[in-house]
Amino acid sequence: MSDLDNKIFAEDKASYVPVFQRYKVVLDHGKGAEVWDVDGKKYLDFLGGIAVNVLGHDDPRLVDAITKQAHKMLHCSNLYYTQPQADAAEKLVKLSGLGKAFFGNSGAEANEGAIKIARKWATAQDPEKVQIITAWMSFHGRTYATLTATGQPHYQEGLGPVPGGFDYVHYNDLEELEKMMSEKTCAVMLETIQGEGGVYTPAPGYLEGVRKLCDKYHALLILDEIQAGIGRSGKFFAYQKYGVKPDIVTLAKGLAGGVPIGAFVVTDEVANAFGPGDHGTTFGGNPLACAAANVILDTIPQPEFLQHVEETGAYFKAGLERLAKKYPALVKDVRGTGLILGMELTIPGTPIVNQALEKGFILNCTVGKVLRFIPPLIVTNEQVDAVLGVLDELLGAAAEK
Ligand SMILES: *Cc1c(COP(=O)(O)O)cnc(C)c1O
Repeated sequence: MSDLDNKIFAEDKASYVPVFQRYKVVLDHGKGAEVWDVDGKKYLDFLGGIAVNVLGHDDPRLVDAITKQAHKMLHCSNLYYTQPQADAAEKLVKLSGLGKAFFGNSGAEANEGAIKIARKWATAQDPEKVQIITAWMSFHGRTYATLTATGQPHYQEGLGPVPGGFDYVHYNDLEELEKMMSEKTCAVMLETIQGEGGVYTPAPGYLEGVRKLCDKYHALLILDEIQAGIGRSGKFFAYQKYGVKPDIVTLAKGLAGGVPIGAFVVTDEVANAFGPGDHGTTFGGNPLACAAANVILDTIPQPEFLQHVEETGAYFKAGLERLAKKYPALVKDVRGTGLILGMELTIPGTPIVNQALEKGFILNCTVGKVLRFIPPLIVTNEQVDAVLGVLDELLGAAAEK
């Protein structure tokens, strides 16, 4: 640790609310999938700011669009129209096959808006149609409604009372979902691929089954693609991989490549549940964020780009599976698709992540034992090989213990 590191650690300890378990690294700048700390040490970034830096760091297209927009106008009120916002909404509507988009500033806000519009739509038909069903091990955000939607009780501890109307089922269990549903169900809200909860993909037929149950009970299907969307699965929307269409999809993280933004996209029918004054935001969808989003929305849906994600993801997954065979006592499972991959260990993941960091690799562990890989979507096979190499080395050392 340098003097500069120690100065910044001390400032943080003295001045910042202690909610983050931070690694002892002060990051400074990046290029592509690589980042440097303030002491000049280089790291390969396989976390990408938690699935945010989809084009990597310092992408010239993104930097150029943001710079140009900054000179024109950073922000104006949503009481006026702007070209970047109209363009970004139009692109999202076209890509999703849904009807209307709304922009906020974060994933939690996107989900909060989705929950509000779903309730407004449902209670107009029946004031008791308020039940929202979500999955155990889901993650939907940190605001009161979204932390209640999050099916991991520890996120709610000590924060009650939380809003009512939420029930939970096991992801990938259709029977349990059907038992929980009725005409009082307003919406079923799921991550198309569970991220934070350990990288779980939908079982064959699961999402189609959920869609059918939603239709049967006149409930909305809300898919949270804040982590798995924006090309990460190999399709622009992960639901396009599984042959379903939601009534509402939520996006954030990668949507503007690192500039804060969130969005929900809804069918026209659901959009009409909201009228003037029913929802709003000061910053959401401002020209700066939308100028950045427009670069992402022009780049990532390109077939060559999505093919790169699909191929690099398949290459990476095959490598992880080889490691699973080589270290059967340490690796329980390899899951995921595209560039949202998980390797479930039989041992705690944090020591592996810490040792990798020492060696110049930014990795991530979720729910204790799952190494989660959500790198910038521009990573190369060579960079994947480097990560596989360090994992081989670290698992090899752990196997000898
Ligand atoms: C990160 C995440 C959120 C919350 O997004 P914030 O921008 O942190 O509010 C919600 N849902 C999923 C699936 C996420 O991965």
